[in-house]
Amino acid sequence: MSQKVSIKGIGHAVYRVLKTSWKDHPYINAATIVIAVITSLLGFAQEAVLAMVINALSGNPVEWLSQRMLLVLFIASFIIPSLISGLQTYIDTRSWRDIYNSWILRQLKKRISIDIARYDDPEFQDIMNRVDEKGSYSIVNVNLAVPTLFQHSVTLITSLVVLWIAEPLIALVVICSYVPYLAVRMKYSDEVFGIWDKEGLSRRRFWDMRRLIEKRSTIGETILFQNGNEIWNRVKNLLNDFTEKQNKVDARIVFFDAATILLASVLVGLCIIWLAQRAFAGFVAAGTFAFFISSIFRLQSALKMFFITISRQYENVLFSIDYFKFLDIEPFIQINPNALRLDTSMTPRIEFKNVSFSYPGSTKKVFNDFNLVIEPGQKIAIVGVNGAGKTTLMKLLSRIYDPTEGSILINGTNLKDIDLEDWRSMLGILFQDFNKYNFEAKEAIWMGDINAEPTDSKIMNAAIESGADEFIQEWVDKYEQQIGREFGGIDPSKGQNQKLAISRTFFRNPRVMVLDEPTASIDAEAEQKIFDRLEKGPRERTTILISHRFSTVRNVDKIIVIENGEIAEQGSHEELMKTKGIYERLFVMQAKGYM
Ligand code: ADP
Repeated sequence: MSQKVSIKGIGHAVYRVLKTSWKDHPYINAATIVIAVITSLLGFAQEAVLAMVINALSGNPVEWLSQRMLLVLFIASFIIPSLISGLQTYIDTRSWRDIYNSWILRQLKKRISIDIARYDDPEFQDIMNRVDEKGSYSIVNVNLAVPTLFQHSVTLITSLVVLWIAEPLIALVVICSYVPYLAVRMKYSDEVFGIWDKEGLSRRRFWDMRRLIEKRSTIGETILFQNGNEIWNRVKNLLNDFTEKQNKVDARIVFFDAATILLASVLVGLCIIWLAQRAFAGFVAAGTFAFFISSIFRLQSALKMFFITISRQYENVLFSIDYFKFLDIEPFIQINPNALRLDTSMTPRIEFKNVSFSYPGSTKKVFNDFNLVIEPGQKIAIVGVNGAGKTTLMKLLSRIYDPTEGSILINGTNLKDIDLEDWRSMLGILFQDFNKYNFEAKEAIWMGDINAEPTDSKIMNAAIESGADEFIQEWVDKYEQQIGREFGGIDPSKGQNQKLAISRTFFRNPRVMVLDEPTASIDAEAEQKIFDRLEKGPRERTTILISHRFSTVRNVDKIIVIENGEIAEQGSHEELMKTKGIYERLFVMQAKGYM
């Protein structure tokens, strides 16, 4: 992915940064500009007063200004800027903090609205990674460059006006002398962004590997398997490689930077010599000459700073464009604007009708013309070897992905035409990679349904059903127990974490409950207990169990054996045992302890 950005694109991004940010923080933004303009005007005033003082000392006083008044102005020209500078520091710090926080929060908010499937897309991962590393930071820089540019513009205009009145040619020469410098700066920013753009994959590798030695959950294995140095070396190589590429661009630019600055300085120097000759010839008073010279320097420095700010911002704007690309990411799942609301108090009939599915970018069909009906309240189990498509089926059911062909019907209506929030509110799907919340135990269970009142009895009932209550009662603070040793709490075992996750699903009390092998770390006896409760759960609740332990799902209404994305067998445990097919073979193997 290479980035060619038009002037229009840049203008649009800057406009969007400013528009959004001014809406977020109108007062602080206005304050940054007011203070910048005042600071710049004060600088100009200070030099003008100094010129008047020198002129007065060399016998050319200003007629309308008394000596005493000039002295007061002279002192004020030193005191006021130092008073203002404290205020400017406060506003600068405050604006950075406030504006940065808003963009970080906006970024996190977007994260929770992006479809889960997007996280499988490498190009999207690249953009997300760049946004994480540089996005908000760059946007705040673009935002706060505006007062800086205002400040430089005021300096630029005031010194330009002075010079234009004195010698328009000098003003013109000083301005033109900085054009090559601007061109070099723009090229530099382009190259810097180019590196970030090209190195997306290696940056992701870098962060992925860093996590192995930074995270508490991974550092243990790294130390015990003694592979820390190997990982550290890989991190180092990736970092050095990246830094080297950046350094090369920096080094190349140093020469051009110096050459263009030298050119500008020589031209400005010639202007000063010419002006000095006129002063020696008596055409210009000493104080006025000093004022012109300082105006030239002020113009020169304002131009340089103006261009540096613009070129720096050019790089930041490119990263901001990325941020907006991230904000504008289209949903993977198309939401029907006229979606039908669902009666969430009724357990639905679910039908997979001629469903075919391949993952995006893959030609392999995980499902081909798949058909399955799940009646309201049915308790079914889906079994099959690894990679058979069990989890994918649940991803389709929860609309993480849509079928490539065919449809999923909910009470006869295509799932695509149903309000997704309504549908998901009826589901309680627990995948294998469940979350661990470092909250208090009762909050960790409440996360199952934040719309429900977290009453003690409801929380405890959910924990009793999953078997979590047994160990929670033994914790010092029971349901108020803080989880996570890094927060002064306790670390539940893997099996305990799984039971907490299952408690969340019970607390959710969904119409359709799916447990996708969530009991891997729970012993067969405990799993049996949980599944027994699920099988005997409310009649109105549809339950789908996915497990590799065949013995624990034998009591469900219907067992569905999936092989290569198709239903190979289905029926009750007894029926399937009689068929003597795949189920019977795998069940017997497992019973003998081979699987
Ligand atoms: P099961 O749950 O039965 O073990 P899955 O549904 O996880 O099987 O996987 C079915 C097939 O889909 C496998 O071949 C797997 O490699 C493939 N698959 C799973 N997730 C993805 C993905 N995000 N992108 C591409 N292929 C995938």
